[in-house]
Amino acid sequence: MKAPAFAYAKPASLMEAFELLQNPNATILAGGQSLIPSLNLRLSSPELLVDITGLPGLSEIRVLNGFVKIGALVTHTRIEQSAEIKKHVPLLAQAVLHVAHRAIRNRGTLGGSLALADPAAEYPACAVALGATLIVSGKNGERRVKAEQFFKSLFETDLKPGEVLVAAEFPVAQEGERSVFLELARRQGDYAIVGIALRKTKSDLKIAFLNAGATPVLAKHAAAAAKTSVAAAKEALAKDLDPPADLYHSPAAKLHLARVLLGRALA
Ligand code: FAD
Repeated sequence: MKAPAFAYAKPASLMEAFELLQNPNATILAGGQSLIPSLNLRLSSPELLVDITGLPGLSEIRVLNGFVKIGALVTHTRIEQSAEIKKHVPLLAQAVLHVAHRAIRNRGTLGGSLALADPAAEYPACAVALGATLIVSGKNGERRVKAEQFFKSLFETDLKPGEVLVAAEFPVAQEGERSVFLELARRQGDYAIVGIALRKTKSDLKIAFLNAGATPVLAKHAAAAAKTSVAAAKEALAKDLDPPADLYHSPAAKLHLARVLLGRALA
């Protein structure tokens, strides 16, 4: 199938983008790797696509005081190739290797993935496990949202109509910090059946699961029980997760697979 007819605009500034996004039937186009398939499948039919790939200042990776700021337009491939991200945000560097295939990674963006909020996507779970801050801009200014509050429901975020996600800030890995990203997928590059993003610092352990709920799920009971033993953490995971069935896996099978990943990640 082909996409329904739409108009196209490529603003040169954020202010111009905000003006275009006043149209309630306008949609932001970034890498197009999720939006264009959804148009072709006629799952949505926006009047106007606002292509943000020409906006200045949204394609930078900067190491600042205690965090790494990644612009919304940074592609999966650039995340994969970034020495700064490998050094300072190792969880993201591990996760990106599981995102789709080369052609998609060359165009798909960090901002597109976070804004889409697919529960099976890798970055939202990493953002929650790392306590990232998402920076959102609109015609009335900029606001900052903690990742845990950003993902509201299935494909639903805290973004308001007309707003653009401009960047995300990830904390720089501390001395002695460990991070692990693992997922189970039918084939390399497929969306995960279930996945885990874990960050352990000297004082804290955060464990987030992907594709185990409508949003990334922070496994607080399992993280607390991990202080006792891996077995206790696996047992406690039932209090954190109530995964929905998919075409091939029952909720019980997904919980089992999540426990397998938890055991591997803690080990
Ligand atoms: P677009 O497709 O351009 O936009 C996606 C949505 O986000 C749209 O609703 C758009 O309006 C909105 N949006 C985009 N940027 C912004 C912004 N800055 N501010 C506000 N709203 C914005 N992803 C994974 O995570 N893991 C996978 O394993 C995976 N496998 C894939 C396999 C296939 C075959 C395909 C086609 C895609 C796959 N993807 C996967 C999706 C891919 O990672 C996309 O690149 C990503 O989800 C969306 O990024 P994009 O830049 O292409 O956004």
